[in-house]
Amino acid sequence: MRIRNVKDKDSILLNSKYVLDNFSFKGKWREVFENDNPICVEIGTGKCTFIYEMARNNPNVNYIGIERIDTVLALGVKEIEKLPVLSNLCLINFDAFKVDEIFFHEVDTLYLNFSDPWPKARHEKRRLTNFRFLEKYDIMFSGDKKIVLKTDNDAFFEYSVVSLSEFGYKISDLSLDLHKRLNYNNVMTEYEKKFSSKGCKIYMLSAVKKV
Ligand code: SAM
Repeated sequence: MRIRNVKDKDSILLNSKYVLDNFSFKGKWREVFENDNPICVEIGTGKCTFIYEMARNNPNVNYIGIERIDTVLALGVKEIEKLPVLSNLCLINFDAFKVDEIFFHEVDTLYLNFSDPWPKARHEKRRLTNFRFLEKYDIMFSGDKKIVLKTDNDAFFEYSVVSLSEFGYKISDLSLDLHKRLNYNNVMTEYEKKFSSKGCKIYMLSAVKKV
């Protein structure tokens, strides 16, 4: 993602009703949302298009978007602050490699949308479906572990299928051309809109690891 300098990024993040600036909610996310509704997390939430739309469409589910680059998150926050206010959405500027520090058995579903593919072998460790990350995600989940992934990148998709399977996940759903599928209630991400408008196929998988 090309990152523009966002001059007022600090005040955008500080003053947003969605962005949490303390990370002390491990095991207590239900208190943050003040309800017992399921909690879904998107890692690498980018400019928040997907997570905001999901939260708007599903008011009985809580959503948390995690984005490591503050300028990217600030660009998204600036836009969603203009839209109707949602009480089931939180955003955090955080590196997902440390997710085990902020969640403890409370997440229902994890979304990985158009994660950076890191194609070079020497960068494999950085892929969000590398086992180093999968290990960290384990502790997040409240019951069965469920990951839903979309990408346009065939090599990253194939890598993720193998990595998740080797880590004990079963692939419960898979599409090599998601937009051709009928009756799939798809919420498009920013990257998905961009790539599909260029004619790229969108790959999707759901993976589940039983407790
Ligand atoms: N999910 C969005 C979409 O589909 O439009 C953005 C996709 S963009 C290619 C990937 C995003 O993941 C970037 O904004 C990047 O900063 C973020 N990201 C990558 N590694 C991350 C990590 N370890 N923790 C949090 N965010 C991360």
